[in-house]
Amino acid sequence: MTPDPPSVPETYGFDCTDCGHAWRAVFQLMFFTDPMDPWALTTQEYVDEAGRAVRSPLADAVCPECGGRRVRVHAERGTP
Ligand SMILES: [Zn+2]
Repeated sequence: MTPDPPSVPETYGFDCTDCGHAWRAVFQLMFFTDPMDPWALTTQEYVDEAGRAVRSPLADAVCPECGGRRVRVHAERGTP
């Protein structure tokens, strides 16, 4: 038996289209399975570096430099 890992780190790159600032953040993608759920669906949730649960890294990106919300987000899959 190989138990699934409870969370998977995902790195996202952010690019502010207002000031050009670029940064990266790592989110933990958590998977939940509710044993009481008759549909047995797995739900997932992201937790950011501060430990806050967020619906999606794409939903609430704000530039730390200029506060702009026109931020492009792209998932980065890569080798460290
Ligand atoms: Zn900016």
